[in-house]
Amino acid sequence: MIDLHSHTNESDGTFTPFELVELAVERGVEALAISDHDTFAGYDQALPEARSRGLDLVCGIELSTRVPGSKSRTVHLLAYFLRQPPPPEFRAWLDELIAGRRDRNQRLIASLQEKGVDIELPEVERLGRTLTGRPHFARVLIDKGYAPNFDEAFRRYLGETAPTYVERYAPYVAEGIRRVLDAGGLPVIAHPIRLGIHNLKAEDAFIRELRDAGLRGIEVFHSDHRPEDIERYGGIARKYGLLVTGGSDFHGEVKPQISLGTGYNGNLNIPISVLNDLRAAA
Ligand code: AMP
Ligand code: FE
Ligand code: FE
Ligand code: ZN
Repeated sequence: MIDLHSHTNESDGTFTPFELVELAVERGVEALAISDHDTFAGYDQALPEARSRGLDLVCGIELSTRVPGSKSRTVHLLAYFLRQPPPPEFRAWLDELIAGRRDRNQRLIASLQEKGVDIELPEVERLGRTLTGRPHFARVLIDKGYAPNFDEAFRRYLGETAPTYVERYAPYVAEGIRRVLDAGGLPVIAHPIRLGIHNLKAEDAFIRELRDAGLRGIEVFHSDHRPEDIERYGGIARKYGLLVTGGSDFHGEVKPQISLGTGYNGNLNIPISVLNDLRAAA
């Protein structure tokens, strides 16, 4: 069993890098990619433990990018570094993304306070490690009784359509792809189902555009994908010569329905050939 998409508490997961390695070994996961949002801190910390436990740990990351001409569409880009570790310039760019998040967080606090929400930045930042994201805000809002659960916290306060929503700096998807390629990584579109393009032709055309911009792979296997989605994205991968990847998108307790390696109610079974093909292409 392999899993090429997971998060630690260095971004918005709840497991420490050490605990995630332990869980992977316990569950019989042979190869695991840590793909935190905007940081390698989880991967860096997990590496010695993975080595000593015989777990094949893959260096990954997940970037939020935007699309020209669309205010609300975000494209999550996974990147895998299979040949060499990401270079310092790429890490410096990640620091800029994290700074953009910090700036957004300050404005988000102001926006919430303006609407009468009793919330201060330090209480949110206390939950984050390398970075503080909206899921950490959601946690505080839930604990203070402003929302009963994550979905409601996003609907009322944090999501793109909430009155208190504030944007953060995000690169265009083409820039993200180029930066990953320049850093020697493989850029892959994450959970394409979440693009929310219901028209099949439009979805196909959008992925082709990304391929033309340098995209190398598509996350065919994902906890959110139904069998027919896997079929469709597998077909698009073949048609456009894209690599196939897959992972659970494990976040720990914030998404308790998702299990490492096996996804949502066991809907994942990612062939080991996926990783072999990625390595061969890298
Ligand atoms: P940020 O990167 O700080 O803007 O936060 C984005 C993260 O918030 C995403 O990666 C998701 O994990 C989470 N998220 C976004 N929308 C929702 C939602 N409607 N419900 C729950 N979590 C969400
Ligand atoms: Fe996340
Ligand atoms: Fe994602
Ligand atoms: Zn993810």
